[in-house]
Amino acid sequence: MTAEKPQQPTPTGESPLALVRRARRIDRVLAATYPEARAELDFTTPLELLIATVLSAQTTDVRVNATTPTLFARYPDAAALAGADPAEMEEILRPLGFYRAKTRAVMGLGRALVERYDGEVPARLQDLVTLPGVGRKTANVVLGNAFGVPGITVDTHFGRLARRLGFTTEEDPVKVEHAVGAIFPKKDWTMLSHHLVWHGRRICHARRPACGACPVARWCPSYGAGETDPAAAAKLVRTGGRA
Ligand code: SF4
Repeated sequence: MTAEKPQQPTPTGESPLALVRRARRIDRVLAATYPEARAELDFTTPLELLIATVLSAQTTDVRVNATTPTLFARYPDAAALAGADPAEMEEILRPLGFYRAKTRAVMGLGRALVERYDGEVPARLQDLVTLPGVGRKTANVVLGNAFGVPGITVDTHFGRLARRLGFTTEEDPVKVEHAVGAIFPKKDWTMLSHHLVWHGRRICHARRPACGACPVARWCPSYGAGETDPAAAAKLVRTGGRA
């Protein structure tokens, strides 16, 4: 996978070079639109980001951010997480829903880290994905944001936007990751992930994209998939937080 060899033929019928240029222009515009784009989960260490990402399944980042300070104060390292009293941790995680399963997941992660990685979070994809409950998406979030290793994080927003913007027609997250990775230089992968996810949460919604309020509309082959009237579209724009 290199930045210079996008897949052929392109999903939009444009030349590979035109696709690369259009895609990178879209990313530049999104970067200017969302200068504050970043991981929306609060963390100070790789362990905290790993746990927060696992906890964010089926809930909002806002809820996770309200819960993790208590969790990390009570259990500051992998050994403490592994040796927790389940009932006590369940109480802390209760606001997140699925708190019993999440307690089991967090304690299992703590145990695996202690047993196999001396309590440290490994900094390689192939190691991260062997941890219980850690898939490629979570691993790329941790690599990109806690370790500075470029990674493309294909969540539901990223996949939808990559398809709407004509970067790929793939549905499988790993294939989306590879197709989009071929269009962008590696150094841009982590921020590209944030830009697409932020755009998906704020403007290019799954059901009613706000096309009439979209800063990349002129380069988007799916313009018209949602509301195009500017005033009506403006009402659909969300200002922040995880949708
Ligand atoms: S024009 Fe519409 S479909 Fe395209 S990125 Fe913008 S909101 Fe999404």
